[in-house]
Amino acid sequence: MALSETINAAVFPTNSTLTNLLLNNDKQNPLSFTQVLNNVYQIQPQLSTMEKYWASWYMYMNNDILATGIMFFVLHEFMYFFRCLPWFIIDNLKWFGKYKIQPTKKPSYKEQMHCLKSVLLSHFLVEAIPIWTFHPMCEKLGITMEVPFPSWKKMAMEIGLFFFLEDTWHYWAHRLFHFGVFYKYIHKQHHRYAAPFGLAAEYAHPLETLSLGFGTVGFPIIYCLFTKNLHLFTLCLWITLRLFQAVDSHSGYDFPWSLNKFLPFWAGAEHHDLHHHYFIGNYASSFRWWDYYLDTEAGPEAKMEREERMKRKSE
Ligand SMILES: [Zn+2]
Ligand SMILES: [Zn+2]
Repeated sequence: MALSETINAAVFPTNSTLTNLLLNNDKQNPLSFTQVLNNVYQIQPQLSTMEKYWASWYMYMNNDILATGIMFFVLHEFMYFFRCLPWFIIDNLKWFGKYKIQPTKKPSYKEQMHCLKSVLLSHFLVEAIPIWTFHPMCEKLGITMEVPFPSWKKMAMEIGLFFFLEDTWHYWAHRLFHFGVFYKYIHKQHHRYAAPFGLAAEYAHPLETLSLGFGTVGFPIIYCLFTKNLHLFTLCLWITLRLFQAVDSHSGYDFPWSLNKFLPFWAGAEHHDLHHHYFIGNYASSFRWWDYYLDTEAGPEAKMEREERMKRKSE
């Protein structure tokens, strides 16, 4: 059988002897993950630690669909709950109370459990489908898995672009979700908690998860259609950062060291908490510019400023 026909892992260029040396395709004596990793360390010492683990995972699995599917599912679950955990702990420590944006409204244990059950159900039912079909789509689009990874500069620029595009999509789609039937039948679920907490970031109707989720996954797909040049690792980093942003913006805490204190255009928890509190305004996810320029900022201060501006205009 020709070598190219036996290759299932696409982390090294096709037909490379490396793939043949490292591939875990001896069904009688399959290699353990550590053995594959040791081989990669020996044969590809120039790769970074992250690249070695990445390549070993695909080589060990020897089935890219399963490797990408499991990786994405674990990445999503781990990063989401890992980022929620500090907020859960902070909620139970009195010292942090002074930084709570709505100090009188602490989520009860019962509320948090209800939220956790719903989020887990949604993860397994709704989000598991796109996660498991992701690899075949990546292959069609030409999203690469090869090592070495692209440069940090390239990845940072792409992630910056995805943040901008997602925020724009989120602003308009979220604004639409606040209209009549869209709110009543879809978005109302997410607004169950007027004082949000980390875990509530993905507490939403399945249709909301799918449509707002397009902002996260859809733009990288469109980007790859045009450029034919996107790495799966960049996508993993982007999804992780976007998850962190979503959880943090629902945390309910605004610290003197929060990112929005250093980057004034960063939305942060203060921005989104006001949205949950007042139901109107602050529709964007990561940045403040759309709400600022389109005059949809939430809260009594923004309302007063708006009224004063209108008064001045009419004089
Ligand atoms: Zn809303
Ligand atoms: Zn929210």
